[in-house]
Amino acid sequence: MATVVPLPAPVLVAVKDDLATFPVRRIYCVGRNYADHAREMGGDPDREPPFFFGKPRDAAVSGGGTIEYPPATSNLHYEVELVVALGKGGSSIPVAGALDCVFGYAVGIDLTRRDLQARAKEKGQPWEMAKGFDRSAPVSAIIPVSRVGHPRTGAIWLNVNGETRQRGDLAQMTWSVAEIIAQLSTFVTLAPGDLLFTGTPSGVGPLVSGDRVRCGIDGLGELEIAVV
Ligand code: MN
Repeated sequence: MATVVPLPAPVLVAVKDDLATFPVRRIYCVGRNYADHAREMGGDPDREPPFFFGKPRDAAVSGGGTIEYPPATSNLHYEVELVVALGKGGSSIPVAGALDCVFGYAVGIDLTRRDLQARAKEKGQPWEMAKGFDRSAPVSAIIPVSRVGHPRTGAIWLNVNGETRQRGDLAQMTWSVAEIIAQLSTFVTLAPGDLLFTGTPSGVGPLVSGDRVRCGIDGLGELEIAVV
């Protein structure tokens, strides 16, 4: 096939104990899906339903590793999240059938330029540059549903330089994975290869160059990044 510029490289995320990889199509994220985080961001978890934003597909960084401190921010934040990898899609998917769309689960970090996000909120501007920057979505190897099922409870945690910063439980999610898939699919058509970041518990905070971040979810393994 002739193309006038080089074809974009595929973006691939590792699948645990498998040589075959997961090709990323789109990345969507849920805002404020844990009540205690909604509160720490100045929101009201009882009255504000979660909302969606995106990251470019090549923001995904399979397996974590080294992340350069991004430009245009002086307040880079971590947010540990359960990541859902879709094996099937559709639109207006009913909650009852939504989990059938899930290929597997992983641990991810929704890296955020908090200063740009605060400015965008103030001015009513888009979050794109606060959320969708290069390498802003490190993600661990995906574990297929066939091996892990659909985790509904389990610790979700994040350490910076060995100190605990976030520690919650998947049971605290305001909207379940099935509800997230169902709701998101009323806005866009979902498809195999989509990654969904499902929100973060409280304790978000800044990273600086030299920080080593380790995070994990019970049953889904761990993810490490080094900020340089
Ligand atoms: Mn997030």
